[in-house]
Amino acid sequence: MSNNSFQVYNTLTRKKEVFAPINPPFVGMYLCGPTVYGDAHLGHARPAITFDILFRYLKHLGYKVRYVRNITDVGHLENDSDEGEDKIGKKARLEKLEPMEVVQHYTLGYHRNMDALNVIPPSIEPHASGHIIEQIEMIKRIIAHGFAYESNGSVYFDINSYQKEHNYGQLSGRITEDLINNTRELDGQSEKRSPIDFALWKKAAPEHIMHWPSPWGEGFPGWHIECSAMSRKYLGETFDIHGGGMDLLFPHHECEIAQSIGSSGKQPVRYWLHNNMLTINGQKMGKSLNNFINLDELFTGSHKLLEQAYTPMTLRFCMLQSHYRNPIDFSNKGLQDAEKGLARLSETYLMLRDMKWVSTPVNAEIEKDLSSFEKECTDAMNDDLNTAIVISHMFQSSAHVNRFHASGKTEGVSEKAFESYRKAFMLYFTDILGLVTEEKNTSNEDFDNLVNNLIEVRTEAKQKKDFALSDTIRNILSKFVVLQDSATTTVWKHERKK
Ligand code: ZN
Repeated sequence: MSNNSFQVYNTLTRKKEVFAPINPPFVGMYLCGPTVYGDAHLGHARPAITFDILFRYLKHLGYKVRYVRNITDVGHLENDSDEGEDKIGKKARLEKLEPMEVVQHYTLGYHRNMDALNVIPPSIEPHASGHIIEQIEMIKRIIAHGFAYESNGSVYFDINSYQKEHNYGQLSGRITEDLINNTRELDGQSEKRSPIDFALWKKAAPEHIMHWPSPWGEGFPGWHIECSAMSRKYLGETFDIHGGGMDLLFPHHECEIAQSIGSSGKQPVRYWLHNNMLTINGQKMGKSLNNFINLDELFTGSHKLLEQAYTPMTLRFCMLQSHYRNPIDFSNKGLQDAEKGLARLSETYLMLRDMKWVSTPVNAEIEKDLSSFEKECTDAMNDDLNTAIVISHMFQSSAHVNRFHASGKTEGVSEKAFESYRKAFMLYFTDILGLVTEEKNTSNEDFDNLVNNLIEVRTEAKQKKDFALSDTIRNILSKFVVLQDSATTTVWKHERKK
């Protein structure tokens, strides 16, 4: 490959390693996708963007990547446990919908949000409910190897039996004795030989909506088995990269390893990559804390914690300004800074795109600054995808571009250094970081008339105290322009002044 020094931090070995795929130039990569029972939120954006960067960078290095990101549409029970209602089944029951209507609705919403964030779709997006046969086959193999047992129509993974030959806890570093001591005995766990055994297949209670026939009776798969079965189907028994949020490390990914080894005897994944979590104003995001921000709410500014709407590119840029293994704290201040930062780099991009090189005497310092840009960015990406450092180099170099633009001359730089810098800056901005300049067409009369008309309708609605309508119009307009309300009038401006 074009670059052999690309390093990633491997959660399994707890160190940075030079990436070497099993079968170059092919790379198999799996990301745990969303459980589609609600709107996509900030927590969904981070793994999607992190692994989009990895997907883009691997392709940039010349690899042929098969990127699998699943849709969880069955088996994910409340509280991520082995008991309780299926998250999608519950939503379907409450809203009197067919479960697959729930799945379709939220999958389409997720895709719409991911498109807005410029996240490239995966190569394959398998649904858990479409792979029940593969999951049953895998469970049969695990039972045949003695690492699972049937109990009252359900099948559980037998941690004690597995421990005799393998190491449960190798990824998370957890010790099984500690896990047993920390597990409360709940109703229904009497089916298990050990309280830390986890479900591979669950017998369906009569009221359970989603169920399939199996050798153990009518039931449904456990949450963890889908990723083992689908990654094996599309990427093989051992593949290169498995990603996900740190919150999935235990038990989900630990269980995936145990299931795959229990079925094939082989370590399923060479490199485990995990992105860190995010907080809102210093607090963990949670429905009970009223700080749970959906992506649509962020993009329209309709959540009460938000001072304004933030564009999808602002969110993407904000996330890339932190290394993926660091936590991110979201605040209005942080997002507004990201908005300004992105505007600055967008301007640099647009200035560079149209700039003409002019011959001037070369200044050694400027020449060095611009000719070293590409290597500095590449070094940062090769050091465990450090997008934060890449962005800092972009900011540093943008001062030169501003100067060139102001004077109308590319003063102090040779044509070779200027052209290689321009090419690298544009490549990093669009292809590798996946950013899009947010140019607004400010000369569009139709657009301005439409905004003015909608503001008139909204003013009338407010006068008639129809606040539902006036809020709806405000939310729509906020996606495109900045509204400023006073007691009697509303003025507006384009989102970004050029
Ligand atoms: Zn998974």
